[in-house]
Amino acid sequence: MSAETNGRTAKLPPTTPLRDLPPPKRPAPKGGEESAELIAQRDRLLEKFTVMQADLGGAFYEMAIRDHVRLDVLTRKAAELQRVDAELLAVERVLELERADAAGLCPGCGAPYGHAVRFCAQCGTPLVPTEAGA
Ligand SMILES: [Zn+2]
Repeated sequence: MSAETNGRTAKLPPTTPLRDLPPPKRPAPKGGEESAELIAQRDRLLEKFTVMQADLGGAFYEMAIRDHVRLDVLTRKAAELQRVDAELLAVERVLELERADAAGLCPGCGAPYGHAVRFCAQCGTPLVPTEAGA
């Protein structure tokens, strides 16, 4: 009875060859897909903005309770936040333009407005519809 176990580890050949499989690329159909992409981008930016805003508030709080407010750090964080905010605004504008068939852009703030709108929803600027040849 010689139950001899030799500690040889069986080497299994790699069953799955490491190949670089390119991700299936589908040509994006025009229309809804682009909108969905924009909405996803908007959501990502919005989430980023929310996190950064909370981070900025938290940073200020930590500094304030230690009586050591570092304005340079806060200003830098605020600048980053502003950049994300601007990006977010740009995406939202494109989305709005796609969604509603905008009659034009507000002369006050640049937000798109619809046909039956008399005042800008963003800034309240009165929008006089220019009906050419009416
Ligand atoms: Zn406006």
